Amino acid sequence: MVPSTPEIAVIGAGLSGLACARKLAKAGLRFKIYEASDGVGGRVRTDHVDGFRLDRGFQVFLPGYPAARKILDYDKLDLRPFFRGADVFHAGSLRRLADPLHHPTQALRHLWDELVPWRDKWFTLLLRLDLRGVREVPRAMTEQKTEDFLRDFGFSDVFIDRFFRPFFGGIFTEKDLRTSSRMFAFLFAMFDRDGSTLPAAGMQSIPDQLAAGLPKESFRFQCPASAVAPGHLTLETGEVIKAQHIVLATSEDMAVRLLPHSGPTRMPHSRSLTCMYFATDQPLPQDPILCLDGCGRGPVNHACIVSNVSPDYAPEGQKLIAASILGAPSSTDLEKVVRDQMATWYGSSAHQWRHLRTYQIRNAQPESRQLKVGDTPASAILSPGLYQCGDYCEDVSINGALLSGERAADAVIASSR
Ligand SMILES: Cc1cc2nc3c(=O)[nH]c(=O)nc-3n(C[C@H](O)[C@H](O)[C@H](O)COP(=O)(O)OP(=O)(O)OC[C@H]3O[C@@H](n4cnc5c(N)ncnc54)[C@H](O)[C@@H]3O)c2cc1C
Repeated sequence: MVPSTPEIAVIGAGLSGLACARKLAKAGLRFKIYEASDGVGGRVRTDHVDGFRLDRGFQVFLPGYPAARKILDYDKLDLRPFFRGADVFHAGSLRRLADPLHHPTQALRHLWDELVPWRDKWFTLLLRLDLRGVREVPRAMTEQKTEDFLRDFGFSDVFIDRFFRPFFGGIFTEKDLRTSSRMFAFLFAMFDRDGSTLPAAGMQSIPDQLAAGLPKESFRFQCPASAVAPGHLTLETGEVIKAQHIVLATSEDMAVRLLPHSGPTRMPHSRSLTCMYFATDQPLPQDPILCLDGCGRGPVNHACIVSNVSPDYAPEGQKLIAASILGAPSSTDLEKVVRDQMATWYGSSAHQWRHLRTYQIRNAQPESRQLKVGDTPASAILSPGLYQCGDYCEDVSINGALLSGERAADAVIASSR
C-alpha cells in the first residue's frame, strides 16, 4: 500500500466533522475526511423512499442554536416552522397547548382546559422570564437532574408528567428527565426564542449545505477507520494513512474503540430510539404540530404529521406520519400496538396507514447526564496531533456537534501555526 499523507485527517463526516473541516478549509489547511458510510450527515440523514423524505429518526432543528446561526445559511435551508405548542393526548383526546405569545386566540380558547393546572401556567411564565437571556448552555447554573430542577422550580408532578416528560423526554431520548438541567435550560430557551423547524427538503439539507462548501476531493466515503494513533490512522482495509493532525469526529463509543488503550476500557452508554414512518391519503389534522403522549402509556412518546410542517416530505396528495418510541423495543407486534395508539390520536384510519419504514437507532444520543465543562479549544486535544469532537464533547445536539467541530478546528489551527 502506498501511504497517502494529508496534513490533517478528519474521521467522520457527521455535523462535527463537517463543521471542523469547514473551518480548516477557511484557514487554508489541507485535509481529508474519512467517512465509514456512503454519505455525509452521520445521525442527520434523510432517505428517499417512494417519493417520501424520511429523516433517519424524526428530529427537529432549532434556529435559535447559536453555532448553527453562525455557520448555516438559513434562507437556503428554507426552514418550515412548527406550531408553537403541542397537542397532548390526555383523558382520551388530544388537547391543545398553545403558546399565548404566538397563538393568543388558541391559547385563550384553551385557557380553561384543566390539562395545565393554573399554578403551572404561572411557573411556565416565570421560567420563560428567567431563561429569557440564555443564549448558550448556562455552565454557571447549578447542575441537577432536569426532573429535580422542574420540581424545585415549582412545577407540579401532574404537569411534569403531562408535558415536560414527553416533550423533553423526546429530546433527551430518556423519560426519567435525568439529563442535566443546564441542557434543559438551554433547550427551553432555544425553543422559546425561535421555536422549532424542519428544512423544507429534509434534515439532510443541513450536512449537505456544510459539505457543499468543501472540495469534493477532500472526501473518502466507505472508508471506516479501524485504529488511530498520533501520526497515523489505519483503515479497515489495512491502508495506513499518515497525518500530522488527526481529528476523531465519530460518535463517543466509536472514538473509544478507535483510540489506543493500555488496559480494559469501559464503553460509554448511549440512548436508543425507534421511529416508524407511515403514509396515508386519508384526511388528517392539518396543523404542523407535535403530538405528545401525556398519559405515559406509550409505546409512542411523540408523533407528528411531518408533511404538515413541510409538504416536500411527501408526494402530492399524501401525508407522512412519524411515530417515535424511546428505546429499541423488540416486540413482534410493535407495529400493531403503534397503529392502535395512533388510532386514538388521529382516528381509525391509522389502521390502514401504509407502513413505509422503521428506523431503530441504537446510539441516537450518548448518555450525558452531566454536561462536560470543556469550553476551550484545549478540551479537543487528546494528545499532541490527536483531537476529538462530536456532540458528546459539548451539549448533545446539533448545536453541540457544530460547536465542538469548530473548537477542534481551532485547536488544530493553533497547533499548525
Ligand atoms: C433520532 C435522532 C433524533 C435527534 N433529534 C435531535 C433534535 O431534534 N435536535 C438536535 O439538536 N439534535 C438531535 N439529535 C442529535 C444530533 O443529531 C446529534 O447530536 C448530531 O448529529 C451528532 O453529530 P456528530 O458529528 O457528533 O456525530 P455523528 O452524526 O454520529 O457523526 C459521526 C460520523 O462518523 C462516522 N464514523 C463512525 N465510525 C467511523 C469510523 N470508524 N471511521 C470513519 N467514520 C466513522 C459516522 O458514519 C458518522 O458519519 C438527534 C439524533 C438522533 C439520532
